[in-house]
Formats: sequence, structure tokens, C-alpha cells
Amino acid sequence: MLFSNINGINKKKIVLFPHNNPDGDALGSSLALLFYFRKLKHDVDLISPTEYSESFQWLPGTEDILVFSKHTQSLVKKKIVNSDYIFFIDFNNFSRINKIKNLFSCSKAKKILIDHHPFPFCFDFMFSDPTVAATSILVFRFISDMNNLDKIDKEIATCLYVGLMTDTGFFRFPSVTSETHFIAGKLIEKGIDINSIYDHLQEKYNENRLKLLSKALKKFKIINKYRTAYTSIKASDINSDLYKQGDTEGIITYGLGIKNIVFSVFFFEEKEKFPIKISFRSKGNFDVNMFARKHFRGGGHRNAAGGISEKSLSESIKYFLNIIPYYYKPLMLSI
Ligand code: 5GP
Ligand code: MN
Repeated sequence: MLFSNINGINKKKIVLFPHNNPDGDALGSSLALLFYFRKLKHDVDLISPTEYSESFQWLPGTEDILVFSKHTQSLVKKKIVNSDYIFFIDFNNFSRINKIKNLFSCSKAKKILIDHHPFPFCFDFMFSDPTVAATSILVFRFISDMNNLDKIDKEIATCLYVGLMTDTGFFRFPSVTSETHFIAGKLIEKGIDINSIYDHLQEKYNENRLKLLSKALKKFKIINKYRTAYTSIKASDINSDLYKQGDTEGIITYGLGIKNIVFSVFFFEEKEKFPIKISFRSKGNFDVNMFARKHFRGGGHRNAAGGISEKSLSESIKYFLNIIPYYYKPLMLSI
């Protein structure tokens, strides 16, 4: 029913939403769908709830992304009210789209989820599979199930490949399967430039990002007993004139690179008085999704999750350090 409507001749109004501070998978999947639905001659809008990292600004189609803000609120509301289909991409929890969540009640649009996070809420149509490494895989399957793989061109393939690359840590996480590589192969056949994509994602550090990384590396604390590493960045570490969203990305992975460490945590105070954003990464079967849900109002995947704390930075770290002894056993046994 959904496929025949979208594949049919009637033009539909479609709105696509990635989550707050969209990452490579959320943006790549959304942009791929933007191009795809345009090819099917629909009227499509891609609305990002917040700004996104500078490292994705080179992606094809970003010039058409509408970023939600106070002054676009009435326009976004109008688009939501008038839409036939609303797609929620790479998240399954409305808490991840900020204030936009309050605008849906007045829309009769069918709501469609395409996402790989566990425990989804109920949507009208759900393409949800927590076993896959990236939402981009589900977008590829979605297009494939509509028998439209021939519609994937170089632009769509580039966007999907970025989703695959970023959510698999460049094809190295345990979530990578033969299907991940099969899809990557199909995307490469569309003529994408892997080297240039890698270069854009990984080798475009600005000086400020490097300085923040160096501050965070200096502050790394290792607790061998709990196989845990953590670090933080506070508001005064940031040069607000130079800081760009995404500049702290990747800091957390250095903790997991240490021998015997299975749990890495990054506390980020972007602005004083804002909730502290906390990122969690793990190796093996230590479940950071559960940890983030239980203690920091967050969620995510088993090995990558995030959450928030309303306490100050030092109080948040203190709170974390008090919790961690309760996880001695699973941390010892992880892997
Ligand atoms: P990051 O640490 O890169 O911000 O997030 C890692 C993963 O954790 C994301 O892909 C997302 O799945 C999840 N995540 C991050 N922050 C939150 C949050 O505040 N709430 C929930 N439910 N999930 C989050
Ligand atoms: Mn994802």
C-alpha cells in the first residue's frame, strides 16, 4: 500500500526528519531519500531539528536542508500539516527532535520510521531493524524492496555510503556483516569516489578541533579496575568564536583504543547551564544503551549510546563514578 502510493503517479507531499545534531548516517539516509523521492517526482522537504557538523556540509543536497529554528517554526508547522507522509530517520524516540515533536498533533500524515535503534515506538509504517549497522542499510533495502535500485545514482550512493562509513567506524564495528559490504559494493558500482568521501570525513580537521582534542586527551582518566576511561570538555575549554558543531566528535574513541579498556565515556559541557551531553562507547557485550537509559535519560545501541545530565559537569562525573562500581562484573566479563 505504502509502496504503491509512493511508486504511483500521484505527487505526494513528503517531509523527512533526521534527529538532533544529525550524524553521517542520519544525514546520509535523509539526503538519499530526498534525492530518491524527487526522482519519483514527489514534493519533498528535509528538515533538520538542529544545525549539523561542518564535516558534512560538502554532502550533495545540504543546500536544500531546512534547519529548524524559531524563525522557521511556522513554515515547518505548515509543511507538517500539509504533508501526506512524514519520515523519521535514524531515531525512534521523539525526545531526539526537540520542540518539533509538539507540531505533529495537528497533522494527518502517515508516519513512517526508518531506523536501527532498539525499542521503537509505534508508527504507521515501520522499517526498523536493530541488528543492522546503519539506517542507510534500511534505506537501501527500502529502495530495493520498491524495485528501484536503478534509481540510485552517484549522489544517492554517496549519501548512503557516508551513512555506512560513519556508523560502522569505517567498516570495523562488530555490527558489520556481509550485507554491509554487499551494499557498499553496489554503491561503489554507482561511481562514488571513496577516496574523496574519506578525505572529506576524516582529513578535514580544523585547528580548533585539534586543540579541543588535545585538551580532552590530556584529561583522560583511566580506571583500570573497571576497565573504564573517561574525559570531558567544559565550556571554558571552548573558543566560542571558532567552535563548530561536531568538533568534539571522535574524542571518545581514543579511550577505547587503550589496551584492556572496554568502556569509554565523554562528558561535554557545550555551554554553561545547558544539560551536560554524555557519550558512551563500549567493546564486547557491555551494554551502554542500557547504561545510558538507566542513568542518563538516553539510549542508543549496545556499543554506542548517549544521554544527558542536568547536574554540573563535576557533579555529573561524580555521579558517574559512584555508579560505576555496580558494573564491576559486566565490565570485567565484557568480551
Ligand atoms: P553520540 O555519542 O555520537 O552522540 O551518540 C551515539 C549514539 O547514541 C547515537 O547514534 C544515538 O543512537 C545514541 N544517542 C546519543 N544521544 C542520545 C540521547 O540523548 N538519547 C538517545 N535515546 N539516544 C542517544
Ligand atoms: Mn545510525
